[in-house]
Amino acid sequence: MKYTLNVAHLYGDLLNTYGDIGNLLVLEYYAKKMDVTLNTEIVSIGQPFDPQKFDLAFFGGGQDYEQMIVSRDIQEKKAALSTFIETDGPVLAICGGYQLLGKYYIGAQGERINGIGALPHYTESQDNHRFIGDIVIKNKETGQKYHGFENHNGITFLGQNERPLGDVLSGHGNNGKDKTEGAIYKNVFCSYFHGPILARNGELAKRLLLLALKRKYPTTDFSQQEHLQIKPTY
Ligand code: GLN
Repeated sequence: MKYTLNVAHLYGDLLNTYGDIGNLLVLEYYAKKMDVTLNTEIVSIGQPFDPQKFDLAFFGGGQDYEQMIVSRDIQEKKAALSTFIETDGPVLAICGGYQLLGKYYIGAQGERINGIGALPHYTESQDNHRFIGDIVIKNKETGQKYHGFENHNGITFLGQNERPLGDVLSGHGNNGKDKTEGAIYKNVFCSYFHGPILARNGELAKRLLLLALKRKYPTTDFSQQEHLQIKPTY
């Protein structure tokens, strides 16, 4: 293969609900067509995250119990992850991972689970209730519709410089009130979608890979890549 991307699977051994790991399989599917080798590595408890080494990061969802464990450890990686994000490193963060990139998440038992505040959103708890079901959103910039399945207790409110991944067409989204779903900040894409999100929304997978490639190989023109012509599967 002509290109190589190093992918960090953040806490992949702890946070992987509802088949979120499938997102990596989808990235591999498109990467192959783009002549890209993906080297994926789990970066978990006690392991440093090297922002120079990685070109893409994936952070899945999880239960409150695992999130609490990750919450303690991720504080050690806060500076490195923030550096990666601020230098336009592409990240896909789902549900629990989305919550932990923000300021905090109040768990279902009322416990405070600290995030790293790399993104300015915060997440409160619903009383004995979860948002569960199919959801469809529309991304403003591209006009693309994204389809998924949400299952979360947390209700998230976006902060300054964050825009939603999409406007909710059906389903609940971030908080069931403001019709937003997910977040975009620089090259970080956050969502409550399981499914996994990239399997049903190939355009987003392509976008992430392209961002990573352009950042790593700034002098190469990727606009004619074969993968860009592929119709995403639903
Ligand atoms: N534990 C979190 C919540 O319920 C995240 C759940 C998830 O990742 N699916 O909101």
